[in-house]
Amino acid sequence: MATNFSEVFKLSETDTCSTVTHVDWPTRQYDTTCSQRALAVCQKCEQPLCAVHVEICPTCKGEFCEGCLFEHQGGPELVQ
Ligand SMILES: [Zn+2]
Ligand SMILES: [Zn+2]
Ligand SMILES: [Zn+2]
Repeated sequence: MATNFSEVFKLSETDTCSTVTHVDWPTRQYDTTCSQRALAVCQKCEQPLCAVHVEICPTCKGEFCEGCLFEHQGGPELVQ
């Protein structure tokens, strides 16, 4: 899945993934920002996404974050 990331978005060398991950240790829980090197940008909310957190729409091959892909696929504007 880590191939063919489009370069139409203006990602800089220093952009990092802004996905927040919930870490659930036995002793404590906290939220941490992914901070891996961003390779894609969500087409909807434009947040930088790393290879792990980018989701590709199977219909239009668009790149989205998890939440936006869900909205995108559930919305009325599905591209066939
Ligand atoms: Zn998004
Ligand atoms: Zn990430
Ligand atoms: Zn789509």
